[in-house]
Amino acid sequence: MAIAKGYAATDASKPLTPFTFERREPNADDVVISIQYCGVCHSDIHQARNEWGFSKYPMVPGHEIVGTVTAVGSAVSKYKVGDKVGVGCFVDSCVGCATRDLDNEHYMPGLVQTYNDVEGDGTTPTYGGYSDSVVVKEGYVLSIPDNLPLDAAAPLLCAGITLYSPLRHWNAGPGKKVAIVGMGGLGHMGVKLAHAMGADVTVLSQTLSKKDDGLKLGADAYYATSDAETFTKLAGTFDLIICTVGTTIDWNAYLGLLKFDGSMVLVGVPEHAVPVHAFSVIGGRKSLSGSMIGSIKETQEMLDFCGEHNIVSEIEKINIQDINEAYERVIKSDVRYRFVIDIASLAA
Ligand SMILES: [Zn+2]
Repeated sequence: MAIAKGYAATDASKPLTPFTFERREPNADDVVISIQYCGVCHSDIHQARNEWGFSKYPMVPGHEIVGTVTAVGSAVSKYKVGDKVGVGCFVDSCVGCATRDLDNEHYMPGLVQTYNDVEGDGTTPTYGGYSDSVVVKEGYVLSIPDNLPLDAAAPLLCAGITLYSPLRHWNAGPGKKVAIVGMGGLGHMGVKLAHAMGADVTVLSQTLSKKDDGLKLGADAYYATSDAETFTKLAGTFDLIICTVGTTIDWNAYLGLLKFDGSMVLVGVPEHAVPVHAFSVIGGRKSLSGSMIGSIKETQEMLDFCGEHNIVSEIEKINIQDINEAYERVIKSDVRYRFVIDIASLAA
């Protein structure tokens, strides 16, 4: 077994601290990755602090992993030593299944999360990317396009696919009006991706404080939701609204912004339940839906699309020693727009 170094949460109330652990021996179908960067996702914080109620400790968070292949098993054909690769939110799926549903595997039982989970054997804990190495089955490793800088590409593995998948599923493209609610780690990726797909993109953010950034990243319009006039002015405007915020908002008001047959899709997770009035969806045959990350196949398609359009995340790079402070800043939305840990700092 190889010894890995990382940072871990040891219980829900303590800061993350240095942690040494063992990575499993690679099997014939495994890829060994030296991690160079790992993005910081808001769900890392929810899980490190057991806010969703299923946390296992010690926990090494991190599911926006990029690095270089250092070894491959004898049956691996897709990757070789030196390749630039990524690992996203899951490292196995459909355990015991003869066939993987390659389009929808992330919605099936048997999904193994990259951290805060156990592998298919039911015992080996999964540890994430706040560490210097990882061993992952070839089928769950993604190829990073050569032209993308590795550090800024890291957030594509979760934030990127979380927005790409619903934009594709609900056909964002030329002639479609798309609104992105929230201009944070998820929202700013939505702006870039929807713009590159050819849609007309509007940001709906609480204030206009990030308006310049939004327009620069590809938005055609930018409105403040703190201004009640926004909801009268934009009534019946959008084909698709993607809601990225984790705060409680009045979905009925946002459903009023949809056109006939429009869809509002939730990708953020507000803490409290929000009542939806039947009339908000009956009039205009509207839909309120949700979407969660994407399959490995779609994640690779997203990475290739980003390579083609030169899309990466806007990032602030940090040393791993600053992770606890970074968590506090994520909670305050004080980051433009995604923290990425430089894993080389682990050696310092
Ligand atoms: Zn995430």
